Amino acid sequence: MNDVRQVAVLKITSEVLSAARAFLAREGFLELLPVILAPVTDPLHHATERAVVAAYGQEWHLTRSMIFHKQAAVRVWDKIFCFSPNVRLEPPERAGTGRHLFEFVQLDLEVRGADRDAVIALGERLLVHVVEQVRDRCRPALAALGRELPTLRPPFPRVTWREAAARYGSNFEERLSAESEGPVWVVDFPGEAREFYDREDPARPGILVDMDLLYPDGFGEALSGGEREHEADRIRRRILAQGLPPAAYAPLLALAEEGLPPSAGFGIGVERLVRFLGGLSHVGEVRLFPRVPGVHAVL
Ligand code: AMP
Ligand code: MG
Repeated sequence: MNDVRQVAVLKITSEVLSAARAFLAREGFLELLPVILAPVTDPLHHATERAVVAAYGQEWHLTRSMIFHKQAAVRVWDKIFCFSPNVRLEPPERAGTGRHLFEFVQLDLEVRGADRDAVIALGERLLVHVVEQVRDRCRPALAALGRELPTLRPPFPRVTWREAAARYGSNFEERLSAESEGPVWVVDFPGEAREFYDREDPARPGILVDMDLLYPDGFGEALSGGEREHEADRIRRRILAQGLPPAAYAPLLALAEEGLPPSAGFGIGVERLVRFLGGLSHVGEVRLFPRVPGVHAVL
């Protein structure tokens, strides 16, 4: 990347951050400062290496996501968000997907008492607001990158995980995204395809009340989210069903015993959003100091 392109990407990134902050403030959200080290973090559904720091007689995980902190934070205020740095030691084979860094930032938000439809609608408003603000305020930057932004028209279509998997196989992300003309929601993941904290539909055992949003034109997954398990018994059952040790999630279970409110939310990757807006080929181009799995960094 030459300087002109780097400046354009920085300009778009700055605009994304300020557009999202202003939008969420207007919607009544308060911003949390990020948690980087935590006694417990997101198990994640796919394999990532452990990233742990030992200090003060205990282990601290580098945060893979702030899911549990979000669930706890909505006890204090009903709408919260955070620009959360995540460390996920992804396998080096993911260097070439265009979508994976091992350190990235997600805009992670949660709403107390919300259902999936409410956070889907919120996600659509947020994305449209960010795209339109970038279109308005980043014309030279978009021109420097040769990018013509598509116009997004919510509500975006929804397909179930089962429909997507029947059409393209269970690794449908790239093909479904490549063949979509606009963003598309994938809803109702099966329990075994996701982390234990996405809520299982009481009326449809094995099906989760959750979603992903895919960008069009092959840019792949934009965000993941859903309604959350918040009752201790149900969380314990889902942890066991995934073959995880409940003791590792003792802090979450203790919080749930005290009382966690129902909530729903999502996390949208900032680098992937800027990659989409800029029409870039790899998320690494979004960062001046990218952390690409398996690639040596000088600074
Ligand atoms: P998840 O809840 O695991 O889906 O993560 C939330 C969002 O963060 C995803 O939808 C992506 O936009 C983004 N994301 C997840 N993993 C990565 C990664 N390794 N590199 C860059 N962005 C990521
Ligand atoms: Mg995801």
